[in-house]
Parts: sequence; structure tokens; C-alpha cells
Amino acid sequence: MLELLVSNNDKDAYPAFVDPGERHAEGYVKPYFTLETVRRIAENTQAAVAEFGYGAIDTVPLAPRRRRAATRWGHPTMSTPDLNAGDLPRLATTRRRPRSVTQETVRELLGHDGQFFTVPDSFPGALPDHITFAAVVYYAVVRTTGPDTGEAEFTVYDVDGRRRPLGAAAPDRDTAIRGALSALAERRRAHARQVEHNRVHVLGLEPVPPVRIGYTDTGTCIVHVRCSCPKVDGLAAYYEHVSLAADGWLDEIPTTPWEFCPTSPTQVTTESGSGRLTSTLRNDKGMAVVRLQHTNGRREEIALAQVSDLS
Ligand SMILES: [Zn+2]
Repeated sequence: MLELLVSNNDKDAYPAFVDPGERHAEGYVKPYFTLETVRRIAENTQAAVAEFGYGAIDTVPLAPRRRRAATRWGHPTMSTPDLNAGDLPRLATTRRRPRSVTQETVRELLGHDGQFFTVPDSFPGALPDHITFAAVVYYAVVRTTGPDTGEAEFTVYDVDGRRRPLGAAAPDRDTAIRGALSALAERRRAHARQVEHNRVHVLGLEPVPPVRIGYTDTGTCIVHVRCSCPKVDGLAAYYEHVSLAADGWLDEIPTTPWEFCPTSPTQVTTESGSGRLTSTLRNDKGMAVVRLQHTNGRREEIALAQVSDLS
């Protein structure tokens, strides 16, 4: 990978990584950007639209990354329902690593012959959605000879982490993999219980972060606050407070339309009192803003990042 600057017009330049050997069909190279850079490009193209109009330039709409992306790096990953139904993960002899064409075999990595497999971050299912794991984690099942028996035995190792065995060694590969999956499921459930315990008893937080951010198909950002929506479409992020959601997410992409979901609370508390939410908008700086009406009739407009509470 080469690090260089690329430009989509005559004035802006962005840091990018390029693999000279990786080309589009037409022969162009493919630049890779950090998310931070993509946000800058998206903002600059939106600014150009404001100046020159749609159709004058190519825009870069910033869509939220779908969570639970199972096959980002091209490795076949079984879905969580399939794994829960007893299917085994698909095995591969090499693994692909992000931003690199390097492929490593299990022998190169662990000194024994074996195969890789991956487990989706949603496995084993039924865990709270805000508890997240790496989207794709590689494991390897290796074949060795038992020191006492002299027979073949199979063990699963965690490849991306500390390369420790997962589950017990077994006389056949499928049993080793099933044992590893059940050990992983128990480990993840224990992690989820620990996270919830720490939130409530150590940090004094609610068991689940109260603010969820999702996206409609048309790209409107929907903010869900302690609402009754069982499921959030296009779920993209969790926050502990609406002001943090504004600061950390909504105001980061100032061209995205946004609103609260219909069952979020509408009583807004600010430094100057409490009032009923009347509308949501963005101000001329692109910041997410709420309008409210106090009980005495006074109207107030305030940045969501400055709101004290929504109840
Ligand atoms: Zn909701």
C-alpha cells in the first residue's frame, strides 16, 4: 500500500492508501480512506452541491455502516441462526486480512496444519444489541498428534487474539468445532452479563444505553430515546444521553435530516426549564436543533447537544 494524496477537484486533497496492483476494470486504482476522511469528502461534496447544484458534481452520501456485516472480507461466514441450528462453519485454508492481499495459512500461523473459520458477531444470538463483538473473528482448527495416545486430535485456537485454545481437544474435527462454538457462546453470554452488571452497579447507568440511532431507507436519521420500538431500522449507534448522540453522531454529518421516533418522549428539559417538543431541525451551522414551547407559552430553540434531558 502506498500512502498518497488524491483529489476529486482542483482544490481539495485527501490522504489515501492505494495498492498499485489493484485496479478497476477501466484501469483506475482504488483509493482507501479512513472514515474521518470520508466524512470530510462527504461534507465537501455537499458544500459543492449547495454552491453548484445537484448534477454538477459527484456527491458522496455517507450511509451508516450496517451492523452485523458478516462477510466483509470475503470469507464465507455462516449466519447465527444456521450455527444455532447445528450447522458447522465453513472452513477455508487461507484467511484474508483487511487492506492487504496477504494470505496466511494455519501452518504459517500456528505451526500445524489446519483450517480457518469465522463466527459472526451476532453469535450466539439473543444477546442485547448494544453488546458488540468484532464483526469477523477468525478461528483455526488444527490437527496435532496427542502426546499420550499418538492419535490425531483436533483443537480450535483463537487466531486474532491471544491464540489460546477454545474448548477442549477432540478426536475429530467436527466435535472440536462444536465444543469451541459452545465455549464461545458461554464466554459471550458471560461478557454480556458482566457488561450489564457493571453498567448498573459500577457505573450507575441504565441496563441498556437509552438512546438508539437508526436510519430509514431514505437516509433520515431517527433518534430513539427510551422508546417502545422493539427494533430499530438501520441501527447504527447507542448513546447514554441525547446530548452525546448529538455531539458524537448527528452533528458529525450535518447534512442528514433527522427526527425523533414517534414513541420517544416529547418533554424537553433545558437550562431554562422544561417544555413540549414542537419540531426538530438543523440550524444554519448544520447542528441538530430542537424547538420547544414552555408551559408559559415561551418558545425556545436549542441545540440538541445542549439539551439536559428528554422525558
Ligand atoms: Zn423508537
